[in-house]
Amino acid sequence: MDELRIAKEDFSEFLNGLKDSYRLYGPVRQGDMVNFLPIQDAAELDLSFRNTTLSPKSLFLPQSERLFEYSLAMDKDNAHILKEAPRDSSPCVVIGIRPCDARALELVDVNFDTDKFRDPWWVKAREATTLVGLGCTSPCSTCFCTSVGGAPFDEAGLDVLLTDAGEVFLAKVLTKKGENLLKTEKAFETAEEALVDRATTIQQEAAAKIVSRVDTSRLAELDTLTLFEADFWEGLHFACISCGVCTYLCPTCWCFDIQDETHGSAGSRIRNWDSCMFPLFTLHASGHNPRGEKIQRVRQRFMHKLKYYVDKYKNGVACVGCGRCVQHCPVNIDIRQVFQLMNEYKS
Ligand code: SF4
Ligand code: SF4
Repeated sequence: MDELRIAKEDFSEFLNGLKDSYRLYGPVRQGDMVNFLPIQDAAELDLSFRNTTLSPKSLFLPQSERLFEYSLAMDKDNAHILKEAPRDSSPCVVIGIRPCDARALELVDVNFDTDKFRDPWWVKAREATTLVGLGCTSPCSTCFCTSVGGAPFDEAGLDVLLTDAGEVFLAKVLTKKGENLLKTEKAFETAEEALVDRATTIQQEAAAKIVSRVDTSRLAELDTLTLFEADFWEGLHFACISCGVCTYLCPTCWCFDIQDETHGSAGSRIRNWDSCMFPLFTLHASGHNPRGEKIQRVRQRFMHKLKYYVDKYKNGVACVGCGRCVQHCPVNIDIRQVFQLMNEYKS
């Protein structure tokens, strides 16, 4: 695929030139946080961020999403009939997504886009979106992508990968979508060999900066029930306050709940993020809750990511090593330690 260059001073103009054909999203500073938001002008972007606080999964699985609308007015022909809520599925570009977050979308595809089950909202959002990645030149101390199948310049799931090479970006075109995006503007030129070499060095140096590592080598072979009954869950869950931050920030968590909200005779069916860390998550209508205790919920989160997913999809762990849950857990529960406990477990 093509390797192109664009001078940084031309990059904003290129992005603003896309506005007529695409909706644009990118990292925008919000106080102490940087999050992915819609942008009207390239000047709103902040590409100096490390990891965004919230992952960009909300662009595909919004925290709250209206799926259907309905009417309870019996004098209307469509009373009690669900109608799909209007949505904008026009082409969209996400600028500056990190490689780990792009890879996370592929891990979540196994839940929303399969031969057997296709979630139309997820699939439409994925199809409409072109992902322009920005490789990480200064990974956080909590990043461990290289241990879980990724890298600071991993190409998985991306349509274009940008390398910040000082005055210029090297843009590696990875898919047809990426090719279509870049050909809309003339600001890109073929990259010279020296630039490609410089970018390779930058990428290698970035990978070498990832010092945080986890071992996943035994997870697949370990017996599921033995891990489920392991004694370390007792100590591990103790500090957790069931806040759900780890799951809401995680780019690979996909749990949701669907509720009907009715105002007068008009209603909406809404999908909201939910979390396996919340006591009500598995509460049955009978009153029975199979995960009523915190220890059962903490175990579920880690078993799902590091064992059930591994066994079911044969696709590695359901964690891309972004480190958000490590950085933001208010009681310092660290998934890297859980990797170690699980991977090294001997009954
Ligand atoms: S962020 Fe920490 S305290 Fe909050 S639910 Fe997750 S593990 Fe528990
Ligand atoms: S489990 Fe933690 S480190 Fe892994 S992808 Fe989720 S938030 Fe990132």
